[in-house]
Amino acid sequence: MLFEPSTLALVTGASRGIGRACAIDLAAEGCEVLVGFNSGEDAAKEVVAAIEGAGGRARAVQVDVADERSVKSLFREIRKEHGRLDVCVNNAGIAEDGFLMMMSSRKFTSVVQTNLMGTFYCCRDALKLMAHQGSGSIVNISSASGIAGMEGQANYSASKGGIIAFTKSLAREAAGQGVRANVVAPGFIETDMTRAVPPHLIALYTSVVPLRRVGQPEEVAYMVSFLASSKASYMTGKVVVIDGGLVIG
Ligand code: NAP
Repeated sequence: MLFEPSTLALVTGASRGIGRACAIDLAAEGCEVLVGFNSGEDAAKEVVAAIEGAGGRARAVQVDVADERSVKSLFREIRKEHGRLDVCVNNAGIAEDGFLMMMSSRKFTSVVQTNLMGTFYCCRDALKLMAHQGSGSIVNISSASGIAGMEGQANYSASKGGIIAFTKSLAREAAGQGVRANVVAPGFIETDMTRAVPPHLIALYTSVVPLRRVGQPEEVAYMVSFLASSKASYMTGKVVVIDGGLVIG
């Protein structure tokens, strides 16, 4: 097991996809997990049941990361119920793709509000708890689009690039308080978010990826658990890209 039994982890957007896989893997590695959901309460309860069925500990918690008050209310509850937080995985995110010349300001700001502001709200409150206890690990989920950019994703790429720069600053600020912060930047991972991508574009992608396939949520989760754990105790401010080798060098 990577974690001590007293380790408490929060994963936002854990009702589905990558967040779900992160919650399940962190629990398998010994964490008690707060399974964050926004609208998918039933799905989050299913994740909790899967964790408990495997002998782990978990509880579903509602939070809309785009809403500062909702985040504050969740962290108030965590402080009251547990008095600590050891691992915070900021995974909740949305995409609303469209070409830049046609992109409304609403579409741009809604993606930035959820992905970047949501990460900021959660990190700020997580850091207060972690700094107080003198330890903790934050893992923020960015994207390969946040590094290289992507056609039709100016809003999403801006939010994900922002998460990288934000986390580097956070890592510098928090190191003195015993808190580490790193980024995982996945390439194409098979989830609801990528379900609508047409088959010919998936074929194009897999033809240029050295590993010749898309990724699975678990392949992101294993890295998240490692970075969150003390096995990564000398890593902070780093960006780990999980993209099947799409960008090498
Ligand atoms: P997904 O299957 O669409 O799941 C999104 C998750 O985020 C859901 O659990 C959803 O919760 C939650 N969420 C959305 N808006 C929220 C909000 N305002 N507050 C709280 N939770 C919210 O997405 P995914 O593919 O697993 O993506 C997870 C993360 O990885 C995202 O940050 C995404 O940008 C990033 N990523 C994904 C890929 C990929 O190829 N899939 C690649 C790079 C990066 P509810 O269902 O409960 O509302």
